[in-house]
Amino acid sequence: MKPRRRVAIFGATGSIGTNAIRVIRAHSDQLELIAIAGGSRVEPLAEIAREFKLKHVSVFDPGNQTEKELKDQFPGDTSITTGLEGLIHTATLEEVDMVLIAVVGITALQACIEAIKHRKKIALASKEILVMAGEFIMPLVEKYDGLLLPTDSEHNAIFQCLSGNSTKHVRNIILTASGGRYRNTPMEQLAVITPEEAVKHPNWNMGQKISIDSSTMANKGLEVIEAKWLFGMKPAQIEVVIHPQSIIHSMVQYVDGSVVAQMSPPNMSFAIQHCLLYPDRAPGVDPTIDFAKPFSLDFEAPDFTRFPCLRLAFDVLKMGHTAPAIYNAANEIAVQAFIENRISFLDIPKVIEFTLESLSITPPSSIQDIIDADLEARERSLKKTLK
Ligand code: NDP
Ligand code: MG
Repeated sequence: MKPRRRVAIFGATGSIGTNAIRVIRAHSDQLELIAIAGGSRVEPLAEIAREFKLKHVSVFDPGNQTEKELKDQFPGDTSITTGLEGLIHTATLEEVDMVLIAVVGITALQACIEAIKHRKKIALASKEILVMAGEFIMPLVEKYDGLLLPTDSEHNAIFQCLSGNSTKHVRNIILTASGGRYRNTPMEQLAVITPEEAVKHPNWNMGQKISIDSSTMANKGLEVIEAKWLFGMKPAQIEVVIHPQSIIHSMVQYVDGSVVAQMSPPNMSFAIQHCLLYPDRAPGVDPTIDFAKPFSLDFEAPDFTRFPCLRLAFDVLKMGHTAPAIYNAANEIAVQAFIENRISFLDIPKVIEFTLESLSITPPSSIQDIIDADLEARERSLKKTLK
C-alpha cells in the first residue's frame, strides 16, 4: 500500500482549512494530518489537535496568554510554536510532505519559500503570495524541482484543463467570475453598501476578506495576476467572463478553437481534494452536479465601470514589476478600512488607484524589494483611509 501523504494546513480553522479537514477525515487511508497553523483563535485549533492527536500546532498570535496557559489547552504531547518562526517551523517539519497554505494575505510568504526549499509539495490557496511574489516563487519551484498546485478554484480548473496539453497550444485562458452580489445593483446603491452586506456571497461560503474582494471583483483582479505566474501567460492571453452560476470554474481555449472547461458545484472541497490527493482521485466529499436536473450556464462580459478594481488589476498586470504588490497591499488596507467603516464601498478602488499613482513602480531585484514596496503601499494607503 502507498504511504499516506502527510499534510500541514496553514489556516486550519478558516473556510479553506475546515474544508481541507473534511477531505482529510474522509480519506484517512490516503492522507494524514501532521500539523496545523492558525491565527489567534486557539480553541478551534485545540479541537483539531485533539481529534487528530497532533504533535505540531502553530498559533501565530496567542495574545497575552503565557506559554503554560497556551500549552494547557492542547494535548500533553503537542508542541506549540508561535509567530513567523512557528509558521516556518511547521512548513519545514521533516515529517510533512505537503503544505496547504490558506491564510489570508501574505503572512505565509516566507514560510511558503522555506517549504519549497525543503522540497515540500505546496497546495496554494493564498493567492496574495503569488500576486506579490510570483516572479520569485515560480522560479524557486522550478529550481527545487517542486510541485505547486493551485487551490484557488479558477486556477485549479485551469490546471486540470491544461492536463495532457502543451501551454504552447493555448490561445487564452478564461477565468470565470460570479460577478458577486452587486452584478446588477443600480450604481447609486453601491455607495451605501455596508460591510455586513458585502460579505454575503451569493454562491460561495468564504472568509470575510475574500468575500468582500469578490463583491468589488478585486478577487478576480488578484486571480488574473495569479494566473499569469501560475501558467506563464501573457497579459493579452488572460480573460475574465461573468458566469453567475459558478459551475464552470474556468476554461482554456486552444489555438484550434477548442475550449476545455472544468465543472463542479460551487464548493471548495473539489479543488482542495484535487490538490491534496494529486495525482490520485477518490470519491468527493460533497455531491456533484446532477445533470438529470435542469440548470443553465450563462456568460457575459464584465463591466469595468461597475468594477474598477478589475480594470485596475488588468492595468497592473501590464505594468508588472512592483505594481501587483502595491495593488494587493492597498486593497488589503482599503478592505480593512471598509470593514471598520472608515471608507465607503466605492472608496476601495479609489484607495488602490491613489496608491498606485503615488508610488513609483520599479523592477524588483529580490523578494526584499517586493516586501519594501508592500510596506510602502500599506503606509501610503493607510494614510489615505485615515483622512
Ligand atoms: P478565513 O478568514 O476563513 O480563514 C483564515 C485562516 O487563516 C484562519 O484559520 C485564521 O485563523 C488563519 N490565520 C489568520 N492569520 C494567520 C496567521 N498570521 N498565521 C497563521 N494562520 C492565520 O480565510 P479563507 O479560508 O477564506 O481564505 C484563506 C486564503 O485562501 C485567502 O488567501 C483566500 O484568498 C484564499 N482562497 C479562499 C477561498 C475560499 O473559498 N474561502 C477560495 C480561494 C482562495 P484565526 O481564525 O485564528 O484568525
Ligand atoms: Mg477563486
